[in-house]
Amino acid sequence: LQVVEGRTCSAESAFSARPSSRRSIDLPGLPVGPVRAVVGDFGAREAKERRQGCCRTRRILLDSDDDMSLAEEQHQPPAPAVPAAGPLPDAVTEEELMSTGHELPEGHTCPLCCLPIALPVARHSSLETCCMKTVCHGCILASRKRGMGKICAFCRTPTAHSDASILAQVRKRVDARDPVATEFLAGAYYRGNYGLQQDIPRAIELWTEAALLGNLIAHFNLGRMYFKGEGVEKDVARGIRHWQHAAFQGHPESRYLLGLHECYEGSHEQAVQHWMISAKMGDDDSLNKIKEMFMERHATKAQYAEALKGYQNALQETKSPQREEAKAFFNSLRER
Ligand SMILES: [Zn+2]
Ligand SMILES: [Zn+2]
Repeated sequence: LQVVEGRTCSAESAFSARPSSRRSIDLPGLPVGPVRAVVGDFGAREAKERRQGCCRTRRILLDSDDDMSLAEEQHQPPAPAVPAAGPLPDAVTEEELMSTGHELPEGHTCPLCCLPIALPVARHSSLETCCMKTVCHGCILASRKRGMGKICAFCRTPTAHSDASILAQVRKRVDARDPVATEFLAGAYYRGNYGLQQDIPRAIELWTEAALLGNLIAHFNLGRMYFKGEGVEKDVARGIRHWQHAAFQGHPESRYLLGLHECYEGSHEQAVQHWMISAKMGDDDSLNKIKEMFMERHATKAQYAEALKGYQNALQETKSPQREEAKAFFNSLRER
């Protein structure tokens, strides 16, 4: 194993560590229907903890990589055909990139209470696969308390419970060229869940389609795949182009990775600029990075204070009594 000392930013292990979209986790006895697509961020959290550990100790095992992606690679079918790449997203100048995309995009606001959803969105909301609306946990719990726990909080469709019925709902929306559904199905093929056989080439095809339909999570994931060369021919520039395209439209996780890339390239100033933007959108990883940069004298105290204040403001905007109640409720379920 190659050990690198004294770097704030890890290399590819960090870039592979942020599955942004939902993951299905069965919670036996969970009384609320649509939570299947909700509680999905444990993998991301584990990866985050690993990453934070890396940064704290400043020992980065470059070729140990992320064990989750290793496991995924081992289950890949032998020598899959590489899917055709979609069109390269338009280039943006650095000035455009830094001056645009400071607001969270559509899908980060609950359609019922109209408040922004705290990051990571998957930990604080549920994707309703009937209408592909991301509804916050506060509204899910409120709907349940009104005796409507078995129907979608947004469109009132009866909740699908089995993998097959969830997939049937999703495929119907994919056929109607719904970008969120297409991204969802891509993620399901990537991880091999909802009863699907893992199929990474199919995942890439679907992410490419969803990206063409404007889905930012699809751009984020394509960025990861091209950056790492997973299931596609490695193309770092294309990977970054996908992240830029998403960050330009306000995708905080892509912004975070752009910062990480700049930091790794030694462009600390650009890294801080990216993380300042995503920290102010409520991304705690970005805030932590600015703190590290401050401790290593790549950022000023004033910059850290600005990031912290912006982060706290963003977080405050996501709070409501209904959501606090839901947080306590969902936390108690997880602890069971
Ligand atoms: Zn809501
Ligand atoms: Zn619905």
